Amino acid sequence: MQTTAGSGQQYVLALDQGTTSSRAILFDRRGQPVAIRQQPFAQSFPQPGWVEQDAGEIWTSQLAVARAVLREHGIAAGQVAALGIANQRETTILWERATGEPLAPAIVWQDRRTAAQCAALSAAGHDALFEQRSGLRLDPYFSGTKLAWLLEHLPGARRRAERGELAFGTVDSWLAWQLSGGREHVTDASNAARTLLFDIHRGCWDEELLAVLDIPPTLLPRVVDSSGVVARIDASWLGGDIPLAGIAGDQQAATFGQVCLAPGMAKNTYGTGCFLLLNVGQQAQASRHRLLSTVGWRRGGATTYLLEGSVFMGGAVIQWLRDGLGMIASAAEVEALAASVADSGGVYLVPAHTGLGAPYWDPQARGALLGLTRGSGRAEIARAALEAIAFQSAEVLQAMQQDAGQPLAELRVDGGAAANDLLLQCQADLLGVPVLRPQVTETTALGAAYLAGLAVGFWQDEAELAAQWQIDRRFEPSRSADWRQAQLAGWRRAVQRSLRWAEDA
Ligand code: ADP
Repeated sequence: MQTTAGSGQQYVLALDQGTTSSRAILFDRRGQPVAIRQQPFAQSFPQPGWVEQDAGEIWTSQLAVARAVLREHGIAAGQVAALGIANQRETTILWERATGEPLAPAIVWQDRRTAAQCAALSAAGHDALFEQRSGLRLDPYFSGTKLAWLLEHLPGARRRAERGELAFGTVDSWLAWQLSGGREHVTDASNAARTLLFDIHRGCWDEELLAVLDIPPTLLPRVVDSSGVVARIDASWLGGDIPLAGIAGDQQAATFGQVCLAPGMAKNTYGTGCFLLLNVGQQAQASRHRLLSTVGWRRGGATTYLLEGSVFMGGAVIQWLRDGLGMIASAAEVEALAASVADSGGVYLVPAHTGLGAPYWDPQARGALLGLTRGSGRAEIARAALEAIAFQSAEVLQAMQQDAGQPLAELRVDGGAAANDLLLQCQADLLGVPVLRPQVTETTALGAAYLAGLAVGFWQDEAELAAQWQIDRRFEPSRSADWRQAQLAGWRRAVQRSLRWAEDA
């Protein structure tokens, strides 16, 4: 990446603390990334279903890349107008206030150890309460039951928590605590909204939810706006007291970075899974399709809400063609192979390898390859795999539009698989709306930078951000409504064959 760093120029530094790596990216006033550093860190899987990370390493890797990106590009702390954090969500850390020492490894969002506890809470009839207040489902994915697990299993933790000696935080809180030299214990509203402990409507921790999970309120961080100066960074870290001025969970940050700031705007990130988020405005929208209702960001005390749906196997289905079937040597190869045929010839690949998420929510569904004939070959299967990513995304978006009661005007896209033109054309055809790929696809980091930069006047307003969003390519729908319906009907027929498969065995 070319650096355009000059001695007087100002930048915003975004920390993108992801699940497998910590990244630091400097953005200039035009919203262009000018320098980037990345460092992976260790994951551990101590038992089936458990996923842990070393909280200390999350911090040290993040600090190392922040320092490196400034040093390598000759940028002084004084040239950094603000710092913003986008973070892997839901990952749960418990530390000692006096020393800043974590009591245990971080429990990562993917960790399923609290599945039985979630099932017990459901059986006790708590689903509706959690859904209405937090917008979430009782699932091990979210932080609340992970924190309850730590309190129950770490010797003395509950007693110490009740005495106010311990602090809980998601990764944003942990980084803010470290960056501020242990002076600030904060989280932004978008991260708070992923804990199962937060009332998304009132915008505060909820006493009743805390009581059900038996969480002492003394553990909790102060909830702050996603955009606003919350701390000065301890000068020993980056050589100056840069303001920490933006915080958001990674998917919310990406939605902000895609400038989906008005109701009805949506983005889809095509990574390992797909993450779809739709802006529904200043009122939370309950879902009738078991999508999540969540906080996008809070600015100036005003909350913007999103509907969120995810697809478990997005780009991962292409990985499976590569690693599981050995059909292609690289993910990028799938495009030419799929494009070598005009259509899949009636072949459907339902990538329910780990069950299906929204709108089916069937953990017992399993992957299926249907409609094979003697004419079906690698190309048809490759095409069916790409179409499966688009079909799954289309179904989530359809559910969102029904929940929100308004049609989608366009879809903004990012993530590794959004490099695939055939996939995006297929997505536009299935949705019947244009699909737009921006020039800057570092949308997660950009969103964190935007939230921080707005807070310190580096950028003036949302209109300025909207003007910066530049298109790389626009994919126009080229099929009729009848064609779309027929396609989706075929897909749904295929999905029906995969549902409850493991249960019947
Ligand atoms: P994550 O952040 O979830 O690790 P990325 O955004 O880096 O994921 O995207 C990687 C995913 O995108 C992989 O699952 C890979 O198979 C898929 N992918 C990468 N390039 C392409 C491509 N050209 N066509 C289709 N899928 C791709």
